[in-house]
Amino acid sequence: MIHESQLNPKVQALGPSATLQINELSQQLLKEGRDIIRLGLGQSPFPVPDIVVKSLQKHAHEKDYLPVRGLLALRQAVADYYQRRDGLDVDAESVLIGPGSKELLFNIQMACQAELILPAPSWVSYAPQAVMLGRKVRYLPTDMDNGWRIFPGQLDQLPPPGDQARFLLLNYPSNPTGASYEPEHLQALAEVARRQKIIIIADEIYGETRFSGEHHSMASFYPEGTILSGGLSKWCGAGGWRLGTMVFPQELRNLQDAMAVIASETFTSTSAPIQYAACTAFSENPEITRYLEHSRQVLALIAGYMVKSLRSLGLRMANPVGGFYLFVSFAAFREQLKGRGIASATELCNALLSETGVAMLPGSDFGLMADQLLVRMAFVDFDGARALDAVAEGQYQPEDFVRQYCPRLFAACQRLEQWLEPSDKDNK
Ligand code: PMP
Repeated sequence: MIHESQLNPKVQALGPSATLQINELSQQLLKEGRDIIRLGLGQSPFPVPDIVVKSLQKHAHEKDYLPVRGLLALRQAVADYYQRRDGLDVDAESVLIGPGSKELLFNIQMACQAELILPAPSWVSYAPQAVMLGRKVRYLPTDMDNGWRIFPGQLDQLPPPGDQARFLLLNYPSNPTGASYEPEHLQALAEVARRQKIIIIADEIYGETRFSGEHHSMASFYPEGTILSGGLSKWCGAGGWRLGTMVFPQELRNLQDAMAVIASETFTSTSAPIQYAACTAFSENPEITRYLEHSRQVLALIAGYMVKSLRSLGLRMANPVGGFYLFVSFAAFREQLKGRGIASATELCNALLSETGVAMLPGSDFGLMADQLLVRMAFVDFDGARALDAVAEGQYQPEDFVRQYCPRLFAACQRLEQWLEPSDKDNK
């Protein structure tokens, strides 16, 4: 048997996350027959495009281990994709393939003793990965009124790093806020990062979901110091396929080589059939272009409706520009909530789940203080295939679309309205 004291203290220090607790409560309520609207897990609602599924079927027999850095044809397809989409000067050599970008993000921290600089809020897993590896995390505060963006001055004010390398992990469009950076923001951040010798890991996994289709990459502005992270999970609906990508500049080849060493001693290579199918996903193809356009239309319709509906209740949020998340503040209801015994984001999520059946995650899971009363809603509880067909065939107003094709999201807004309505207090 293993004694508690024999377990890795860096892992033990993390403890179970609020996400896990909320998921467990969800499961329990589902077992009791409750109707739970799932706005917790950030999984793409869309099916994998047919052409990519067919490619996977065709390659099901591929059984050999593939090269550690990834199938050459796929590395080339990924390089071509970034050249096409962002005009980046990358070749197959610059690309690494891994079993999900989460794994690659962990490995990059393992490969380099760097301090990790994170905007607050940030995606749930960056900081725990740093903690497990004993890396220092430094948070840069952001706020809703400034679109949850960091500012160049914040990088300028960081204390000198000494000999240590520094990674700034920037994720845009952002999970959890849906906010992003425009070219002028990226340009300004690039200038400071260059001066301060900060390496930027640009997590652009939601880039293709930007509603306007106009995602810009940090690598265009800071090519020599940007590592570009992406994969199939979000824009291709293939989270469970586990395929992530990283693109390195020539200047960081030694870091890329260290990543390949870690890969060869841990996962060896990413699943072969998936890599072959990913060649199709990253290639230029009208079916995929259409799929992406329709996905963006669906997400924009839903975001448009939900933002309007939730704001009309008195909730506050920044306008999301991509992804499938809303980061919503209940601060205006602080006093009312206090009267109901709710003072933290976790208590708020627990109460919403048990009293309305709507599952969401607390802002404290994303590096914010629990008393800020922020929650993340992932607006993904709908039939993605049906929604894609609908926008392919017609034009919709946001409310009509959500009512007809995303009834559970519509219901979630209604349940929130009832829950927040003081006249209903006696029923709560
Ligand atoms: N980055 C962000 C911001 C994410 O939201 C996710 C998935 N939730 C990932 C990385 C990891 O994705 P994957 O490992 O599936 O590539």
